[in-house]
Parts: sequence; C-alpha cells; structure tokens
Amino acid sequence: MSDTFDPTIAAFDPEIAALLASENRRQRDKLRMIPSENYASKAVQEACGSALNNKYSEGYPRKRYYEGQQFVDPIEELARDRIKALFGVEHANVQPYSGSPANLAVFFAFAKPGDTVMGLGLPHGGHLTHGWSVSITGAWFKSVPYSVRRDDHRVDLDEVRSLARTHRPKLIFCGGTAYPRTWDWAAFAEIAREVGALLVADIAHISGLVAAGVHPSPVGFADVITSTTHKTLRGPRGGMILTGSAHAAAVDKAVFPGLQGGPHVANIAGLAVAAREAAQPAFKVYARDVVDNAKALGEALVARGFDLVSGGTDNHLLLVDLTRKNISGKRAARALDQAGIELNYNTVPYDPRKPFDPSGVRLGTPAITTRGLKVADMAEVARWFDSAITHADDSDRLDAIAAEVAGHLRAFPAPGLVLEG
Ligand SMILES: *Cc1c(COP(=O)(O)O)cnc(C)c1O
Repeated sequence: MSDTFDPTIAAFDPEIAALLASENRRQRDKLRMIPSENYASKAVQEACGSALNNKYSEGYPRKRYYEGQQFVDPIEELARDRIKALFGVEHANVQPYSGSPANLAVFFAFAKPGDTVMGLGLPHGGHLTHGWSVSITGAWFKSVPYSVRRDDHRVDLDEVRSLARTHRPKLIFCGGTAYPRTWDWAAFAEIAREVGALLVADIAHISGLVAAGVHPSPVGFADVITSTTHKTLRGPRGGMILTGSAHAAAVDKAVFPGLQGGPHVANIAGLAVAAREAAQPAFKVYARDVVDNAKALGEALVARGFDLVSGGTDNHLLLVDLTRKNISGKRAARALDQAGIELNYNTVPYDPRKPFDPSGVRLGTPAITTRGLKVADMAEVARWFDSAITHADDSDRLDAIAAEVAGHLRAFPAPGLVLEG
C-alpha cells in the first residue's frame, strides 16, 4: 500500500463532502439566474475532474517543455480545431485560465503600459478588464471609457467615435457583462479602422449565442476576440482568444510565456467536449430558447410594472431598474435569493446609488434554459419575482415561494449534478 490518499471525499473529508452535497441540492432547488452562470454537462465535468489535473504541459502542442504529452497534445489540438470550426476563425488559443487573463494577455500582446485603451464603462455594463480604474488594466493603461445613452441605454456610437478621434486609443474593447442589447461590430470596426486602433470583441457572456448564430458574430470585424468558456457556451471554467493568422503568434506568445505557466489541460479537455456539444443541432435550439426565454421574461416583468434597462433584451440577460418599486437592488437580491431566485444586484446606467447597494438587479436565462424551462414557464418566473419583491420583508412568504420554485423545478433535472437520490 502506498501512503497516497485514495479514500473517497466522503470517507476522507466529510466536512467538504457535506458542503458539496448541499451545493448540489442548492443548484437543484433554485432558479439560478445569474446570467454568467450555467450548468456544465456531466461529460464536461468528467474531463475537468480527470487525471489531466496531474499533468504539466507548458508550451503548445508539439513544442512543450515537459515530457509525456502524447495525449495532451491531441487533446489541445482537438480543442483548438473544434473552437476554430465552431466560430469560423483561423486561430484559437485555448490556454487562458479564465476571461480576465485572456484580456490581460491581449493587453500584453498589443499595448504598452501607459497606452490609451477604450471600453464600455463598468457602470454602463462593461467589464473591469476593459480598463476600469480599479483593475490592473485601468491602473497600468490610460483608460477612456465610453457610455450608453441616457434615453435608450444603447452604446453611444457617436461618443465612441468622437472619443476615439480625440484620444487615438491603441485598443478598443467592445462587449460587456451587463449589456442586454446586440453589439454593432461593424460600426466599431469602422471607428477602430479610422483611428488605427485594434478592435477587441469580448464575447464572454454571449459566446454560446454567437456560436449558435443567435447573436451576430464579430468574426470579420474584430481583430481579436476574447471569451470565457463557462457562460452561455456552457463549458468548463476557462478563457480563449480567437484571431486571424496575422495575430496568432503575438497572442500565443503573450499567453505563454508572457502571462501564464502551465495550462490547465483538464479544462482544455473540458472545452473540447463543450465545443463538440455546441456543434450539435440541439445547442442551436438551446441558444434560441435562451433568447426567447429572456424576451418572454422581460415582457412578463414589464407587464407587471417593472422597468427594464433599455426596455428589454436582445440576448440572455435583463437588467431591472427597481427605482420605481422603492426597493434597493441589494435588498431585492436578498429577498429573491430567499425566495429561490438567485441573481445579483447591479448598477443601472447613470445610477444615483452606490455600486455596493445599487438600483438594479441583473438576471438571465442560460442556466434555467439548460434545465429545459421554456417560454411558457416565464410567466410563472415573473410572478415569483414580482411576489418576492412585493413581500421582501415577509420571510414566511419568501420561504413559501422558494418551496414552490423547488417544486416546479423537480420536473426539470439539471445536468451534471451529483445527488444522492
Ligand atoms: C465574465 C467576463 C470576463 C471575465 O471572466 P472571468 O472568467 O470571470 O475572469 C471578462 N469579460 C467579460 C465581458 C465578462 O463578462
């Protein structure tokens, strides 16, 4: 007998095992509506939990710094080839540990500290890593954020153009984390070309929708595309960078050895599996359902007197402005969580309140659509949402809604959860 630890987690570490079991039940019983979250399949999770966790593979296929890559190389090649085919790009780097390092690698590849970069401001739906002040990308680069318009909450392309002409940025980021509308890649490309900037489309939230063709693709418009792999794409935790061959070498060098050491090859195997899943006809149906569900839910909420940022949605997410309901985003999010609806509080554009207790909540349909909820279920979801907001101080009422939610969800098994009966 060796002295390695071979007992199951339940036998060796009952404390963690019990918490994991609780988390599995929590994910079973709640309407998980944080728009960046999903349920990865059992197959994806098998890959992520595989023996590849034990492997070091610095470098790229056929150019590694460690031996024993006989099976890792074809796995990374399959992941790259499937992602390239799925998005129709010439080059894919699948090694970024997550979305943030993917963006940081793009900065390292194409800009120098102090260079000017533009991105949608965080309070307007952009991401921290597009140059927001508290991020390394805002601290080490000169950031010129653009906004959405006050009246219709759409990206203000006139402002983007005039800021770009004035500040001549090296990089222009488009894409966001709380933007419910379609991105006009062509308009951004025209502005970037005019001022000699590199256009980076960050499709972290919408990559599943782009892969399925239900959101326009930035391919052919953006010079570089970054994404996470675990949001609407429904893969493992991870990031990726897609480019044409002209930028391939610069991107690869920036990821390794520029920013990272050994890639997380188990997650790369998980991404290969997820890319195969996303190429199936069923995934196209899934992505269309995600958007249809979000639209139907938005309409049901509007019918109940809720204000939506931009009035609705084109994608998987909704931002609800609760100002007229006289409840803060944080209080609403707490009440909804108790009622079995898990989402996050969020600033709304031009929010008069502070980011730690803003005016809105953000919710989305990727995870509940993976469970099979359809347009017909959205009226019910809106009713629970409304009821929880109306009775935010009535703990018994919130618990009763949570029980109803869990009951409804029993008909919609979630993939990938480990449940003991
Ligand atoms: C989620 C997200 C990221 C960051 O991804 P992490 O995996 O959390 O690091 C980057 N950009 C956008 C637009 C995102 O939504």
